[in-house]
Amino acid sequence: MEKISMTTHSAEETQRFGRELANTLVPGTLLCLRGDLGAGKTTLVQGILEGLGAERPFVSPTFVLMKQYELPQASATGIKRIYHADAYRVGAKDFVELGFAEWCADQHGLVILEWPERIAEILPKKRIILSITALSENDREIKVVTK
Ligand code: ADP
Ligand code: MG
Repeated sequence: MEKISMTTHSAEETQRFGRELANTLVPGTLLCLRGDLGAGKTTLVQGILEGLGAERPFVSPTFVLMKQYELPQASATGIKRIYHADAYRVGAKDFVELGFAEWCADQHGLVILEWPERIAEILPKKRIILSITALSENDREIKVVTK
């Protein structure tokens, strides 16, 4: 399979990619974002949130674990709410208690998860995985992970 990847050269470009990606997502999707601290996962999510018309403030869920956005207008994608979660500081057990399975079962929802590796044992098989790698201070490779 050909490599599915792109490189962005600024945070703004990553956000723009997120806005474009947002239009291609369907309700019921779990979008996993891999990448080290500072790779640009939250930056990409900000673009997705904007693309789907979520209301600011867009907060990083590193400390709140999950921030839920009810979209004021259902987007053309059919997505009505977004669960932006970050498993960096916790484990699978915490996510089970928070209701991770319910978020994923929401047929009108989009779940975006940073640090999916942390809760690998409870991740549904049906998911999209992107990985972001810092190539330099402002260059980031964004890849679709196919295995
Ligand atoms: P993560 O959520 O992966 O820990 P953040 O999105 O919070 O990362 O932080 C990424 C940092 O890298 C931000 O300070 C952002 O401005 C910076 N940055 C520089 N270049 C890029 C780029 N091409 N794409 C995304 N972020 C970038
Ligand atoms: Mg983050």
